[in-house]
Amino acid sequence: MSSITVHRHSQLPSDKYALIDSYCTDLDCDCRVVYIFVVSQSQQRQVASITFGWQSLEFFRKWMGADEVDDMIRDLKGPALMPMGPQSEFAPILRELVGERLQEKAYVQLLKRHYKEFRKALTATKKKSDLSW
Ligand SMILES: [Zn+2]
Repeated sequence: MSSITVHRHSQLPSDKYALIDSYCTDLDCDCRVVYIFVVSQSQQRQVASITFGWQSLEFFRKWMGADEVDDMIRDLKGPALMPMGPQSEFAPILRELVGERLQEKAYVQLLKRHYKEFRKALTATKKKSDLSW
């Protein structure tokens, strides 16, 4: 599992923060967005919820069927704080740290791979339940 270890940070408590990636469960939707939940290991609670889309702004503009790139599309690309997800007072700083992690190609590759695997598993589950009808 991916994590960020924070030590002697001016704005964040020293802790290990787990990054738990999660994906859209709608098979008809190929949004290419990941939800990253940041969980404090010492407190065992979710302290930030972040969305990130690995495609270009142009991809998300088309996806939304919009004429131009607006704030909603910029938030879709992110990394942005999820409006509906649990957050904490540290969420904005954690968003920055996760943003730095998202600069690492290997991490983004891992998320893309998880997205594919997740959808594959979802398809398999759906086929099984179709059969049982
Ligand atoms: Zn989706």
